[in-house]
Amino acid sequence: MDTLIEGYRRFRDSYFGSHRHLFEELAAGQSPKAMIVSCCDSRVDPHLIFNAQPGDVFTLRNIANLVPPYAPDGAHHSTSAALEYAVKVLEVEHIVVMGHSGCGGVRALLEPQDGEFVGPWVKIAEAVRRKVDGRADLTRVERLRLCEHEVIRVSLANLTGYPWISERIVAGRLVLHGWYFDIEAGRLYIRDADDDRFFPV
Ligand SMILES: [Zn+2]
Repeated sequence: MDTLIEGYRRFRDSYFGSHRHLFEELAAGQSPKAMIVSCCDSRVDPHLIFNAQPGDVFTLRNIANLVPPYAPDGAHHSTSAALEYAVKVLEVEHIVVMGHSGCGGVRALLEPQDGEFVGPWVKIAEAVRRKVDGRADLTRVERLRLCEHEVIRVSLANLTGYPWISERIVAGRLVLHGWYFDIEAGRLYIRDADDDRFFPV
């Protein structure tokens, strides 16, 4: 806790001090152009990776950067609520789903463990597990990486199932992106929508 409070003091003294006008402006409201759906993982901080300022990016982080299917059933849909706010209220023009290497959430999909919530949550991508289960030609690490890429594709596909997202895509007002961050190399990969592969930036 002391480390966090020390960090806050450094933020107050340096960053906040030199960006006071930005915070004054942002106190009146936000209008980010992009939303990023990334993982909760402490090693994958979108604001750090994209050198973003407060107000630049509307960020949602959950286990394994998963977007659940559209299901307006009155349950507690944290991810869908964030999407609705970003798309309908803030009218973001881009939604980025960013996966990453060494994802514990994706590993929990491949190698289920005990627990109440993570297992059912990652089942959103159950089809991915079935797809790689039969791949005896892959090592454990290769299987994990393939799944990390596939999970991004699942989230992108599920996004198009939200009617207010698909109608904006058709109207040219919203674009979806699949990105992947390799922690060790510090490298970002972007999915080419045409041939569905990830290329380094
Ligand atoms: Zn993760």
